[in-house]
Amino acid sequence: MSTPHPANRVILVVNAGSSSVKVSVYAVPDSAHDNVDIQPTLAAHGQIEGIGVAPRLMARMADGRVVADERFPVEQISDHDAAFRLIRLTLSVGLRDTPPVAIGHRVVHGGADFADAVRIDDEVIAKLEALVPLAPLHQPHNLTAIRAVRAAVPELLQVACFDTAFHAGHDPLAQLMALPYEYYERGVRRYGFHGLSYAYIARRLHQVAPDLLEGRVVVAHLGNGASLCAMRAGKSVDSTMGLTALDGMPMGTRCGSVDPGAILWLAAQGMDADAIQNMLYGQSGLKGISGVSSDMRALLASNDQRAKLAVDFYAFRAAQEIGKLAVTLGGLDALVFTAGIGANSPEVRARICAHLTGLFGVALDDAANNENCQRVSQDASGVPVLVLPTDEEGMIALSTARILRECGRLGPCP
Ligand code: AMP
Repeated sequence: MSTPHPANRVILVVNAGSSSVKVSVYAVPDSAHDNVDIQPTLAAHGQIEGIGVAPRLMARMADGRVVADERFPVEQISDHDAAFRLIRLTLSVGLRDTPPVAIGHRVVHGGADFADAVRIDDEVIAKLEALVPLAPLHQPHNLTAIRAVRAAVPELLQVACFDTAFHAGHDPLAQLMALPYEYYERGVRRYGFHGLSYAYIARRLHQVAPDLLEGRVVVAHLGNGASLCAMRAGKSVDSTMGLTALDGMPMGTRCGSVDPGAILWLAAQGMDADAIQNMLYGQSGLKGISGVSSDMRALLASNDQRAKLAVDFYAFRAAQEIGKLAVTLGGLDALVFTAGIGANSPEVRARICAHLTGLFGVALDDAANNENCQRVSQDASGVPVLVLPTDEEGMIALSTARILRECGRLGPCP
C-alpha cells in the first residue's frame, strides 16, 4: 500500500487508551461517495505508548517505511493531547500534510443510547461523559481526544464508533442481571464490548464463508482484553462482557467473572472502591494468577508453575464461555478465533479446543493450526474452527466514511 494520492480524502482513526494514543490515516477513494461499502485504505499509522511514564513514538507508512521511532522525556509528552498533536505532526510529514476530512474515534461505551456510529456534537459528548463510571480506564481518554480535536479544529467532522453498538438489541434474557428490576430500567444491564472487532469479523465471514455466517457462530476475541460473542445470522445475540469490560473470561490484567461476594469480602477487609477497581482492572487476570506477566507470550515461554496455571485457567474459562454461548445460540455451527492471542497462538487455541472435543467434536488440524491458517479444523471436525485477524480501526474508518457520505461531505474531488 502506498501514500494516498493528494486528491484522495483522508480520514484519521484515533484510538486513545489509558497510556497510549494510536492514530491511523486512511485514504477514502473518490468512488466511495456512491458506495457505502468501499473500505478506506490504510496509508499510515502512528502511536505513542508510555504516556506520562516513558513515552515512545513510532510511526510508519503502510508500505512499511518507518517515519519515526523515538523516545521522549516524560515531561514533553505528559498527556494525551500532546501525544495526539505529535503523532499528527509526524504523520503529516509522510502524508505531505493532506488535511483530514474527518476523525473517527474508538469510544468504548455507548450505553443504551447508541446502536451505531454517530456524528459527535455537544449532546453526544454529554451522554458519553455520563458513561465514564462504566468504563473508567477507557472512556475519559476517548473523550480527551475528542475534546482536543474540537478545541483545535471545531469545524472538523468527528465520529464516535462504539465497542458496545454491535451488541445493541440483545434480548432482555441476555441483558439482565438478577438485581432489583429498577436497576435494569436505569441502565444497569449487560451491554457487551469489542463490538468493532465482532462487526469486522462478521464482514470477513461474509467474504470468506458466507454459509457459516448465516448460522450459529461464536467469535473469541482474545487479546489483552478478551471476550466472546454469540452471533446468529451475522448479528450479535449474546456476549460474555457485561455492564463493564470486566465480566466474562479472565484477561491480561482484568479479572473476568468473579463471585460478587469476593468483592464484598475485600470491602469488608477495608479496601476502598479505588483500590478494588485498581485490583480488578489492573492486577488480576493472567497477571494476577501468574504473578509473572499479563503477556501470553511470556507465560507460554515460562516454566513457572503459576504461569502454567494461569494459561490452563484461561483456556478452561474460554471453553466454558463458548459452551455458555452455544446454549444461547441453541447449538454451534462455527468457532472463530481473533485478536492478539486468538489469531497468533496455536497453543492457546489447541488448549481451548481440547475442552470442546467431548461436547462439540471439535478436532483441530495440527499443521493448519500451527501455521495460523484461515481454517484450522479437520474436515471431520464437529464444528469448523477459523482464524481471522481482526481490524477494529478499519471498521472505524468504514463507519466514518459512511457518516461523511450521509452528511454530504464525501463528494467527488473538485
Ligand atoms: P492484542 O490486545 O489483541 O494486541 O493482544 C495482545 C496479546 O496477544 C498479548 O497477551 C500477547 O502476548 C498476545 N500475543 C501476540 N502474539 C502472540 C503469539 N504469537 N503467541 C501468543 N500470544 C501472542
